[in-house]
Amino acid sequence: MDLARFPRRRYTPYATAIEPLTNLTRALGGPSLWIKRDDTLGLAAGGNKTRKLEFLVADALAQGADTLVTCGAPQSNHCRLTLAAAAREGLKCRLVLEERVKGTYDPKASGNNFLFGLMGVERVTVVPAGSDLMAAMEVMAADLPAAGRKGYLIPGGGSNALGALGYVSCADEIIAQAFDRRLAFDHIVTPSGSAGTHAGLLVGLVGRQTGIPLTGINVSRPRELQETNVHTLALATAEKLGLPPIPREAVTALGDWVGPGYSLPTPEMIEAVHMLARLEGVLLDPVYTGKAMAGLIGLVRRGHFKASDNVLFVHTGGSPALFAYQDVLRD
Ligand SMILES: *Cc1c(COP(=O)(O)O)cnc(C)c1O
Repeated sequence: MDLARFPRRRYTPYATAIEPLTNLTRALGGPSLWIKRDDTLGLAAGGNKTRKLEFLVADALAQGADTLVTCGAPQSNHCRLTLAAAAREGLKCRLVLEERVKGTYDPKASGNNFLFGLMGVERVTVVPAGSDLMAAMEVMAADLPAAGRKGYLIPGGGSNALGALGYVSCADEIIAQAFDRRLAFDHIVTPSGSAGTHAGLLVGLVGRQTGIPLTGINVSRPRELQETNVHTLALATAEKLGLPPIPREAVTALGDWVGPGYSLPTPEMIEAVHMLARLEGVLLDPVYTGKAMAGLIGLVRRGHFKASDNVLFVHTGGSPALFAYQDVLRD
């Protein structure tokens, strides 16, 4: 595989740090826990979508687009970062917001929703849960050609095979950092949502034949459904890179920490957000990394790892959403 063959913009002029979670490790009495700080990626309050956008926006520019159109939930980190990339590149940006939990969209909301306006979004439409988002984005871009403009549609979470290359390259970054420090990871844990992060990491780890097992912690779907989604995207990503197919058995996406549904708080998420804030000074988010860290903590408590293991948690960002969940997180 040769990632250099794909056009790429650079939004993070450094490798994100891998840090020990010394206090959390001590508090849990379990394996050595580490964190990959992808919450410090570039663009406005960066997170995992920054890596995907490096490839997606390069493609948009190669196609001569002047407007990025994408979709997400009302507190979407992906929408915030797509908008930030558009601003950086001198492009316009339009957003389709899916009101996944009925009655929750508030144009005056805090968190990411506030940042949409601050960063100069050109247009926002809100559609009900379960809408055909691709169709809604096409409607959103329909007036552009008549104005001599050109739109580029990015799927939810930037999760297609091109966007997933961002996390294939993250796997390479982790492998290089681990080698540099002679730090052998026995396990990697990542949040698993629209699946681009999980699929990209998997293709990178399998493609480089590391043998490191990867566990996704789901934020919205039960195990079977999510594993199918991740596998489908991993196959497409591997094919794009000329790699052999990723075996289905390599995909693990646990659904035990989703709770009542996407973005809905759970006691385990609240505990995880508090623990990381108070033990490590690390801000998680309530929708993705809070639930994924709850999953890691749960796995440690279940005795899933050996005491001698080094376990890496991928922090995918999202802290701006904390400010939209203050009532849930205050004790
Ligand atoms: C989108 C997102 C995820 C999930 O990543 P996917 O690639 O969609 O699976 C995890 N964490 C944060 C903070 C996100 O914004």
